[in-house]
Amino acid sequence: MKKQAIIVGLDGGTFTLIDEFIKEGELPFFAYLKENGVFSRMRSVDQQTRVPISPTIWTSLATGKRAEKHNIKSFFNLQQDIKSARLFEIFNHYGYTVGNFGWELTWPPEDYGAFNIPCNMARDNSTIPSKASPVQEMRKRSKKKGLNIISNASLFLRLFNLGVGINSLLKTSMDVLRKGDKRTRQFNNLINGSSVNFQVFRHLYKEFKPDIAFYFIPITDSGAHYFWKYYDEKNFPDIDAEKRKKYGDFLRKIYIEADRQLKKIFEMNEDALLFVISDHGMQPIMEGSFETISLRAKKFLEIAQIENKVELYHVGLNCVINVKEKSGIDSKFLYNFFKSIKINTLNKQFFEIVEMDNTGRIFLKVLQKDKGDYDNADFDSLEVRIGGNVCKFTELVELNDLERSADHDEWGIFMHYSKECKKKGKLDDSEIYDFLPTLLSAMDLPSAEDFDGKSLIVTDSGGLKNIPTYDFLVKHTPAEKESDDSYVKDELKRLGYMKDE
Ligand SMILES: [Zn+2]
Repeated sequence: MKKQAIIVGLDGGTFTLIDEFIKEGELPFFAYLKENGVFSRMRSVDQQTRVPISPTIWTSLATGKRAEKHNIKSFFNLQQDIKSARLFEIFNHYGYTVGNFGWELTWPPEDYGAFNIPCNMARDNSTIPSKASPVQEMRKRSKKKGLNIISNASLFLRLFNLGVGINSLLKTSMDVLRKGDKRTRQFNNLINGSSVNFQVFRHLYKEFKPDIAFYFIPITDSGAHYFWKYYDEKNFPDIDAEKRKKYGDFLRKIYIEADRQLKKIFEMNEDALLFVISDHGMQPIMEGSFETISLRAKKFLEIAQIENKVELYHVGLNCVINVKEKSGIDSKFLYNFFKSIKINTLNKQFFEIVEMDNTGRIFLKVLQKDKGDYDNADFDSLEVRIGGNVCKFTELVELNDLERSADHDEWGIFMHYSKECKKKGKLDDSEIYDFLPTLLSAMDLPSAEDFDGKSLIVTDSGGLKNIPTYDFLVKHTPAEKESDDSYVKDELKRLGYMKDE
């Protein structure tokens, strides 16, 4: 009989927290997996870039290869830049259907024989099947203004038809989220959003019964970034008692929600091989809060008078700008225009990064505070010169206090359970490149000689002959030439992962 597999991506999942919460008796299903399956710390740092960048890591997990082979090196890469076959194409090649919910770099969605809900960097709401698009719509709307059940009645109805319960819809509605302070709202938002996603995934899984399914849980990453310090008294002794009492449980509850979803996923198909993987781990950082500056895109395009000529989308703090067809402007011209925009009062460039790639896409980011460029200037007094116009700095930007108390580290997780897996317990440390070879061997399919990893488990198919490569399956037209990666290097230096040359 054909085997089936379900892969759960636990963003930023770390044994540091899992083991702690298991000890407290809070994660029964994770405990079950550790006891009855195999697990390993999975090292995520890419050997070349030495920094955990999600699109790079997820593409390594999907291809079994390092970044220099698969070609995804930055947040700005697109699906068509990938030069190696991913698990989607490989399983399709052997006649397996694949359902995806949230794998990085899956926009625009391609048809792998079941459903495909693109990652959270998707630039529009397209999904396969298209009736699933409300889940993307919800994600975008709730980020901006929250959701009101009355004004979003049609969206709620469509989510209901995708299997989302009334209770979840009510909880997701703005009226409930408005209660409480910023941290509490953030927490409710994460939990409720994740629960809606999960219900849609389960609905699609039952409808399509894919041979291979992937489901992404992002809240373990955001939850750790925001709430670690309230939970961890040892590393953060200065948090005041009232806050600790109020928020101290949030991170734990996020893992409990992940545990609950995992158990339900397992119960959906107990014969399927279950994999739980993360793209990196998390660790506490002591620097405390840091403030970032993001562009108010709509206002900026309006003042620059290019709102009808370009499309702009955010990737975190960074913006990507595409010149629309027949707009009559040249991207080279635009690139120089962005470079010429100055913060008058400081006589500094408004955009700290302005890069253009060989397809004419422009990447930019507002000058940040961390290198001391603002020199403690009063933001209200700053002015920006855009061409012939002068406007207030605060009109163009938004200040965000991220108040992060944890950041990514290189040790992610790998967990695997199947009825037939004889081995149990802890395996040697592994690497992200090992995931695809492991998945293939567990499914009794051959590995490829150009993989950078090896299978972590021994199966009956151990004698299968490797094939040289799966890359003949790559459908996308590869980029014409290597894109300039100085932007990435710049980012790495900023993040402290790379020293100035
Ligand atoms: Zn993160």
